[in-house]
Amino acid sequence: MELQFKRHRRLRSSASMRSLVRENHLKAEDFIYPLFIYEGDNIRKEVSSMPGVYQVSMDHLEAEMEDIVAHGIKSVLLFGIPKTKDACGEQAYHDHGIVQVATRFIKEKFPEIIVVADTCLCEYTSHGHCGVVEGEKVLNDQSLELLVKTAIAQAEAGADIIAPSNMMDGFVAAIRAGLDEAGFTEIPIMSYAVKYASAFYGPFREAAEGAPQFGDRKTYQMDPANRMEAFREAESDVEEGADFLIVKPGMPYLDIVRDMKNTFNLPIVIYNVSGEYAMVKAAAQNGWIDEKNTVLEMLMGMKRAGADLIITYAAKDAVRWLREDQ
Ligand SMILES: [Zn+2]
Repeated sequence: MELQFKRHRRLRSSASMRSLVRENHLKAEDFIYPLFIYEGDNIRKEVSSMPGVYQVSMDHLEAEMEDIVAHGIKSVLLFGIPKTKDACGEQAYHDHGIVQVATRFIKEKFPEIIVVADTCLCEYTSHGHCGVVEGEKVLNDQSLELLVKTAIAQAEAGADIIAPSNMMDGFVAAIRAGLDEAGFTEIPIMSYAVKYASAFYGPFREAAEGAPQFGDRKTYQMDPANRMEAFREAESDVEEGADFLIVKPGMPYLDIVRDMKNTFNLPIVIYNVSGEYAMVKAAAQNGWIDEKNTVLEMLMGMKRAGADLIITYAAKDAVRWLREDQ
């Protein structure tokens, strides 16, 4: 009997053949590296739940940036840890707020590096919520005003991209109008359009020191069970003028990344969050997985799912490993 079947293995017969038909590729330009800038002196503190990730004060920033540039990474996402916090998060939008100071420094010393400014209030508010609080309620429209002030302060400091992350309704419209009015019509908005209320953010809260002091973020971040809601969120951000769409977290939401890629004509960004990073690190430190191949497979999965850009704490490792393999 003559069997009829297809020989798919023909295209996997050697490393060269596999390389010839490879559909997706990772490169240094895909990555955005998050940086935690600590207000103070002589601080370079490793985040205990995120080995290899450091909070740095301004006096350590130049060395950190040189390392980032030496790795071939082209963009950074800035978070700030201020000395003082208050109910309205004033250090988020103060001219001398830590992210503004760091942005000015980076743009002066490393002008070719793209600075993405995370635009939120939770690292700067005493209550740790992403907006203005009344009782135990996070107020939407009042929060927008402070977010706009923050975005303008970041743009004035030289940020190349504004990345609002607090999931208030209308945040893209408000920031776009505010930036335009202030003369920053050329500054794009990378919106955290689809941000789930996720358990995977745990280690980040240690790194950014912005855990909510009461309640949770479920009235503004999305329910992990929902898909249609992601379309509604992204649609309104596109209408309001977003230039990039972020899906956050990464690995548990690759279906949503593909949905966004198929539906919208904007660059899709995935945020490979702290908990995803920490899990791999912990397993690797126990000798339970091969870190290099696991991380590169995760990142490739994100590209294959449709991500154009990946925000990841593993950026330095990834570009180093990719270079090794060349
Ligand atoms: Zn926030």
